[in-house]
Amino acid sequence: MYDVIIIGAGVSGSAIARELSRFEANVCVLEKCEDVCEGTSKANSAIVHAGFDAAAGSLMAKLNVRGNEMMDDLCRDLDIPFKRNGSMVVCIHKEALPGLQELYDRGVKNGVKGLKILTREEALEMEPNLSDNVEGALYAPTGGIICPFKLCIAMAENANVNGVDFRFNTKVENIKKDEDGLWHIRTNNGEYVSRYVVNAAGVYSGVIHNMVSKDDDKIEIIPRRGDYCLLDKEVGNHVSHTIFPQPTNLGKGVLVSPTVHGNLIVGPTAIDIEDKEGTNTTADGINDLIAKANDHVKNLPMRKVITSFAGLRAHEARHEFIIGEVDGAPHFIDCAAIESPGLTSSPAIGEMVGNMLKEMMGLTPKANWISTRKDVMNPADLSVEERNELIKKNPAYGNIICRCESISEGEILDAIHRPLGARSLDGVKRRTRAGMGRCQAGFCSPKTMEILHRELGLEYEEITKSGGRSNIVIERTKNQKGGEK
Ligand SMILES: Cc1cc2nc3c(=O)[nH]c(=O)nc-3n(C[C@H](O)[C@H](O)[C@H](O)COP(=O)(O)OP(=O)(O)OC[C@H]3O[C@@H](n4cnc5c(N)ncnc54)[C@H](O)[C@@H]3O)c2cc1C
Repeated sequence: MYDVIIIGAGVSGSAIARELSRFEANVCVLEKCEDVCEGTSKANSAIVHAGFDAAAGSLMAKLNVRGNEMMDDLCRDLDIPFKRNGSMVVCIHKEALPGLQELYDRGVKNGVKGLKILTREEALEMEPNLSDNVEGALYAPTGGIICPFKLCIAMAENANVNGVDFRFNTKVENIKKDEDGLWHIRTNNGEYVSRYVVNAAGVYSGVIHNMVSKDDDKIEIIPRRGDYCLLDKEVGNHVSHTIFPQPTNLGKGVLVSPTVHGNLIVGPTAIDIEDKEGTNTTADGINDLIAKANDHVKNLPMRKVITSFAGLRAHEARHEFIIGEVDGAPHFIDCAAIESPGLTSSPAIGEMVGNMLKEMMGLTPKANWISTRKDVMNPADLSVEERNELIKKNPAYGNIICRCESISEGEILDAIHRPLGARSLDGVKRRTRAGMGRCQAGFCSPKTMEILHRELGLEYEEITKSGGRSNIVIERTKNQKGGEK
């Protein structure tokens, strides 16, 4: 029996798990996929928003601004990359200039610091590749860029080191409160029992909520798909700030931004769909985003695209985070409808839900809570002399597996053997960047598979791209039947 079960190991569930790990409580995270960061948290713009978008006074606005403020300390403690590169909302129609003032005023009400409205000349001086049509811009120095995988993985790892149990490949199928007053959670891997439940199931948070809520309190989460193009590092400095168009009722629009690892990202679109697993891109979506991005940034080097992908926002009609105890379901906490800026808000969501449960359960702090963790060691951060020393001590750091990103066998071994270690190609990719480069894993996949096979004792047929049925080797070839794989 657990004190708290969290459903979902995305950035919300992982942040809540880390906050709860500060206290004396028996906590477990149930995740239907084979790793953390398999839902929306793995496919977004990776922007730490300043906080001028959300309606003044909303929970979304408060958690956005608080999450943004928490990011420096959190990223330092968890050893993950974060850069305050600043963001600009660009106006390209003179008649739309008052819209910048509205955003500025809302930002001030939300507590965003340092906002400034720029003239056309000031904006172009800061970003020479803005469209020739630029009329002005809203500049937010607190806007930033982050690695969404590292944020989610680091919070989960740190929670795990502090005693939180993670059960992967465990899908919640039904939840009932029994006569014993406890929550009984049926999964594909048997029943779990808990005093408190937190629903952090992303696009499925409505489905989970509806398992326990009253008939007149059902919620519907609409997957709002966003397509992206990711461009090569060669053109990562086409802009240095995150460049947004003026927002519409469908969201913040198609942005152009450097990533924290030096690529350029362009996207997302905003298309409401029915399929909660519908993360396919479409030609129409990609063409649409390219056209829109070109409205506010010129000479976009779209021939340098290395991959495209899509993510699903957990959109709810009220466009507000739903966080709190479900009416008529005591001890069941929703963390639902966490659409953008959910990544930015995640540390604040963790803090809020952690404090809520601390009060409700009367939790006491752990004396020996570990607040920091070290990321997978990156030899690229070392001097040549230090790297040579490292390779002398451990030759695996001299064996380059991913040529595009210069990732060594040593880093992959670290990713596999650390807490909540990688078990699939994507698990290795998100922890080390092996396979994230220009060739998109064409060269390193077989080599990474060899390492997974050797280190985890997995048969080649058992190794997957990202768990489930994403096997890479299906069977032996005709000539090799019964022979070598
Ligand atoms: C296109 C797009 C762009 C975005 N850009 C930004 C941005 O730049 N900045 C920003 O701040 N935010 C952004 N966001 C929002 C942000 O990505 C999300 O708010 C955040 O990732 C949501 O995290 P989560 O943990 O709530 O959900 P998820 O990451 O989806 O995690 C939910 C988890 O629950 C698991 N789960 C679901 N059902 C079950 C079940 N029955 N049993 C067990 N496990 C289950 C899933 O497998 C998943 O791992 C963007 C989102 C999208 C889609």
